[in-house]
Amino acid sequence: MLGEAAVFPVRRILCVGRNYAAHRAEMGGADDREPPFFFSKPADAVVPPGRDPVYPSATSDLHHEIELVVAIGAAGFQVPVDQAAKLVLGYAVGVDLTRRDIQARAKDKGQPWDAAKGFDDSAPISAIRRWTGPPPQGRITISVNSQVRQDATIADMIWNVPEIVAEASKLWRLAPGDLIYTGTPAGVSAVSRGDRVEGAVEGVGEISFRMT
Ligand code: MN
Repeated sequence: MLGEAAVFPVRRILCVGRNYAAHRAEMGGADDREPPFFFSKPADAVVPPGRDPVYPSATSDLHHEIELVVAIGAAGFQVPVDQAAKLVLGYAVGVDLTRRDIQARAKDKGQPWDAAKGFDDSAPISAIRRWTGPPPQGRITISVNSQVRQDATIADMIWNVPEIVAEASKLWRLAPGDLIYTGTPAGVSAVSRGDRVEGAVEGVGEISFRMT
């Protein structure tokens, strides 16, 4: 799961929720002063490049969320923002697949999101591109059957990458093998069995799969 044919052993998957204002608005217009937050997926939710995810059970409203993914390559705990880049090995393009109908019911009842977010094959990801220097800032896009659904700019994130890593490290001891999905822009919509999904983050890479 790493460029140059190396393998990145996934340890933990953290995900940021409501990290783009336009997506926060489309999901119900939560209070603008509410900061983003974390949820997680199990490590075995990852779908590596070259494999197609299986359409999950128990949903009739599976949504794509295209996201920049941070691959953590060094341990850190309670890391200040200006040191956070030292933990980053590289970046990938990921899709946070979401059972939106189950998530809506969970929100209504104040229940956890595990069944909505942390199911089998819920975390397709591209190869990881090793990276030094300032984090990606460019365009992030996804299309379904060649129709563009999400098209935005990484620079529009509410928490930027160093802030995300620093915030995560307040809550967890980050370690090599951790992945952080950094949130999705507006335009989330449904995918069906057989759909071709193609996403990209400028400078980072591309992801392509068919829902099977
Ligand atoms: Mn997401």
